[in-house]
Parts: sequence; C-alpha cells; structure tokens
Amino acid sequence: MRKIITIGEILVEIMATEIGDGFLEPISLIGPFPSGAPAIFIDQVAKLGQPCGIIARVGDDDFGRLNIERLRRDGADVSAIATDPDRPTGSAFVRYRADGTRDFVFNIAHSASGAIAPTRAGSELIESADHLHIMGSALSSPALAEMVFAALESIRARGGSVSLDPNLRKEILAAPGMREALDRVLSRTDLFLPSGEELFLFSEHADADRAIKDLLARGIRTIVVKNGAKGALCHEASGSWSVPAYPVTEVDPTGAGDTFGATFVTFWLRGSPPRESLTLATAAGALAVTRRGPMEGTSTLAEIEAFLALHHSEESL
Ligand code: ATP
Ligand code: MG
Repeated sequence: MRKIITIGEILVEIMATEIGDGFLEPISLIGPFPSGAPAIFIDQVAKLGQPCGIIARVGDDDFGRLNIERLRRDGADVSAIATDPDRPTGSAFVRYRADGTRDFVFNIAHSASGAIAPTRAGSELIESADHLHIMGSALSSPALAEMVFAALESIRARGGSVSLDPNLRKEILAAPGMREALDRVLSRTDLFLPSGEELFLFSEHADADRAIKDLLARGIRTIVVKNGAKGALCHEASGSWSVPAYPVTEVDPTGAGDTFGATFVTFWLRGSPPRESLTLATAAGALAVTRRGPMEGTSTLAEIEAFLALHHSEESL
C-alpha cells in the first residue's frame, strides 16, 4: 500500500462549552483536544489502515504527548514529530458565536509548530513516502514552504503523487509569498481539493465550469470541490460526479474538510472509482461534524461503512 505523508501544524484545541462572543470574561472551557489540520488529516488516513506519517514539531509538554499518543494509537508513523526543547506545543482557543462563526485565540507562529525544520527523521519519512498531501497552512512561512517544495520534488522524482487542500480563504492570500507558493505547488499537484470559493484561487474565470477546465488543462488529474452541508463534486477529464451531503445534526464542523480529504485521497490512491471515493469521503465528513472536538471526528472504515449502511437502509424504507 502506498504511504501518505503530510507536513504541518500539530495543536491542541480548547473550546468554550457555550455559544457566545469572544473570551473577555471567565467562561467554561473543555479540552485539550488533539488538533491541527494536517494532524487531523493524517489521523483519518491512519484509521483507514493506510500507511502514513507526519512531519511536525511539538513542545516537551502534555499537549504534545497527547497528540503523539493519539496519532500513534491510531496507526500513524510519528517518528518525524520532533520535540522542541524551548517552545510549547501550539494551541487554539475557540468559541462559537450564535451565527455559527468562530472566535479564535491562536498560539501557532511562536509555538513548536512555528519552528518545524528539516531533521534526519523527516528526511527518512519523505524517502519512505509515495504521496504528499499539502495543506495551505504549510506554505504560510517561507522556511516551511521550502521544506514542502523539497519533499514534493523528492516524492515526485520517485514517481509519487501530490494532493493540495488550500484550506484558506482569499484574505490570507495576502501573506508574503503565499500566492507564489500556492502557484508553484498547484503546477505539481495531481489531486486538488478546494472548498467552495477556493476553486477560483487559480483561475481567471469566475465561472465554475471554466475554472475547472482551466485547472484540468494545467495538468491536475482530479479536482474535488467541498461544499459543506451541500455535499461535494469531483471533476476529471473523463467526467464529473456529484454527491449530496448526508443529513446529520452538526455539533462541531471543525475537521470535516480534513477527514473528508483524507478519506478521498486514500481511496483515490487505492484506485477506487470517483463516485465511491466521494461517497466514502462524504460519509466521513458527515460523521466528523456529529462529534465534538476536531480530531474526535475521525472514523475507521468499519464506522464509515456502518454509517452508510444505516443511511441507505433508512433511504429505502
Ligand atoms: P474546514 O472548515 O474544515 O476547512 P472544508 O471547507 O474544507 O472545511 P467542508 O465542505 O466544510 O470542508 O466539509 C467537507 C465535507 O464534509 C462536505 O463536502 C460534506 O460532505 C461533509 N460535511 C460538512 N459539513 C456537513 C454537514 N453540516 N452535514 C453533513 N455533511 C457535512
Ligand atoms: Mg478545509
């Protein structure tokens, strides 16, 4: 089986137990929960039984140990998670507002995640990999972006493949070098996983069909557009497929895109037909939003299949 790796932030998330605005007075919090988009992604890949690993950095603290133990337990290769002697593990405090948007307090840039650097274990993981998944957040610092480019070239030179989830909104494109880094990665991407508006990041066209044609013409083999509660679409030169989202009660949307992406990438690499990969990924995304905590929403294949069996038996009643 092909080994999937990613590079990027590992965090803990600590969340307000009640809906409201900001953190300006004492409120009840729950956490720490393991988190970080690349970490959630790789945990979901591991739970599907695919060989996988992550290049990351945590502090010498319980927030770091909590993440490493979770990823190890679920089957990910944690050998390239370095421990920083000086910086703490990254964190994010989050509170949901009544309209569903979120307030965050982040400690990432000055945490261990902000000091990810090349290591021997990291090089060994890259050498063992067949596929690199890139999250936009890994391109936000020039030093980390250089590591990503080097991993990309090494894996591609050995015949491996690359997927990209920009995981950002248009506003963050203003970060210095971000646009160039994204363009550079996109031209070497096989599988592109934008959500909603991100489809238009790389195209002159505001029209979805033309943007897709553009991207396919640039050499991208598969484009998967994530549309939250509206489901997802897959486009290849040979056709397009669409699946609706499963109706579920949303408890916590954080991590849906990452579990969806991990499931799609895994089945795409296994050679599954697009509709099947989309269906499994959509079920994984639906399961993710029903559970509180970003990484708590990842699922085993047995859980995804049980969800699909239940859903489709209800549909035929
Ligand atoms: P993120 O905010 O984590 O970056 P994203 O924009 O990358 O998310 P979404 O489109 O929000 O990704 O979610 C990915 C997939 O998960 C969707 O395509 C859908 O299949 C499923 N999903 C997300 N939200 C819901 C929901 N409320 N109900 C059912 N399924 C959902
Ligand atoms: Mg996303």
